[in-house]
Amino acid sequence: MKIIIIGGGIGGYSAALYAAKHNAEVVLIEKEKVGGTCLHRGCIPTKSFLKDSNFIANAYEAKASGLFDDICHYQSDVILQNKNETVDKLHQGVLHLLDNHKVQLIYDEASFVNTHEIHLKNANKNMTADAFIIATGSTPRVLNFVELNDKVYTTDQCFDTLPDKTENIVIVGGGVIGLELATFYRQLQHNVTIVEAEKSCASNFDSQAITQLVGLLKKTGVTVLTSAKVQAISDDECIIQLKDSTTRIPYDRCILAVGRQSSFASLHLENANVKTSFGVDINEFNQTNQPHIYAIGDVSGKSWLAHQASAMAKIAVEHIVLKQAKPLLSVPMVIYTTPEVAMVGVSGDQAKSNEQYNVVKVPVSNNGMHMITNHKRGFISIVTDQDERIVGATVFSKSASEIIHIFSLAIDQKLSLKDVSSMVFAHPSLSEPIHDCVNEPFSMALHSLK
Ligand SMILES: Cc1cc2nc3c(=O)[nH]c(=O)nc-3n(C[C@H](O)[C@H](O)[C@H](O)COP(=O)(O)OP(=O)(O)OC[C@H]3O[C@@H](n4cnc5c(N)ncnc54)[C@H](O)[C@@H]3O)c2cc1C
Repeated sequence: MKIIIIGGGIGGYSAALYAAKHNAEVVLIEKEKVGGTCLHRGCIPTKSFLKDSNFIANAYEAKASGLFDDICHYQSDVILQNKNETVDKLHQGVLHLLDNHKVQLIYDEASFVNTHEIHLKNANKNMTADAFIIATGSTPRVLNFVELNDKVYTTDQCFDTLPDKTENIVIVGGGVIGLELATFYRQLQHNVTIVEAEKSCASNFDSQAITQLVGLLKKTGVTVLTSAKVQAISDDECIIQLKDSTTRIPYDRCILAVGRQSSFASLHLENANVKTSFGVDINEFNQTNQPHIYAIGDVSGKSWLAHQASAMAKIAVEHIVLKQAKPLLSVPMVIYTTPEVAMVGVSGDQAKSNEQYNVVKVPVSNNGMHMITNHKRGFISIVTDQDERIVGATVFSKSASEIIHIFSLAIDQKLSLKDVSSMVFAHPSLSEPIHDCVNEPFSMALHSLK
């Protein structure tokens, strides 16, 4: 069985490794760098930046608490260097894994010639395979009236340079990426404005968590403008249309974080009669209308998350090789702000408008570990169905990105509140409030008043 995978981002390289583990003959075609958006311009660079900016914010907090007498000025070069080192190590790691699994890696740009043949642009040759997996990802959306330059750019350019003096930074878009970048630049003491066209930021997340998060961001000094549309961007000002007025915000950097679009135009899918809409159309096994051509990750327009791209890769490969696969289970979503927001399954907002769901919620403020680490803001909420089975959860707290996985497991395994209520949590730990949350409906939450 020969499988050609087009695109070597996290979706594509995961598919290549899974396919090789199933003893398929695997060709992976990548036009730039293996690792794609997630590794070079997405998940890893943002989280490396945030790790360092959190460190700096903690140092200021430590000074305020009297633990430090003074703080030295931070070095922005080191933040870039730390990010580059991590990205390089991971890049080398993926290349080593591909080599170790005998994946044939070809650096070239592929397009379809017909349903069973692709063309390689640089090599100017065609290749055939039994099955194809399209994993060409996405590119940042750009506002059509905005001209990109060295002061106005998309998130793709965010990770190459950092300001070394205090700057005015305007972030257009208050989604997950906009909120993370705002946290990062504010923790480095820059003047940050978020401009969000919708009524609220990150509208696909739990609204209570987002309201609290935005409140906290504002407290740190971030200006958050909602129902605000960028009208124009001049050399040094962003002109913003608010509800009843217009405002001008001076900027040194303006970052567009207004979403992404699936990237498939250059594949010439029309030659293979593959159906597309805003992404490449797929079924639950990630199969296109051509049964031997699959599409995974951002290019499908169904996923904008790295771990989902990787999970889709496993399903597609199993469906190709084993002719059967389990469809995708629950997928957690995280915003890596301070505190973090993580969600999985049915949201609190969805539950509110549906009588068959119940929501139980506890604060994290009375928990020992949250107090020790000085992260007292936040809550855990769980959505259950009529059988008290856990169908969704939101965690708004420090390390929510780790804590949420307990709920992914509970949802996938159809566990009830009672099932989890007998679980013993380590003390002190950040996940301890889960115990109170699952016991609350039975009046057995240890830390709630009678
Ligand atoms: C700033 C930022 C932060 C993010 N943070 C997170 C996060 O914390 N967690 C999370 O889950 N997600 C995050 N994401 C989203 C995540 O990066 C993407 O969902 C993920 O990278 C998608 O993987 P993919 O394999 O589908 O596509 P990509 O990573 O985009 O890879 C596609 C690859 O295909 C190649 N390619 C394209 N066309 C061709 C062709 N014709 N021939 C050969 N090669 C081709 C490209 O060069 C690219 O390497 C973030 C995104 C951004 C922008």
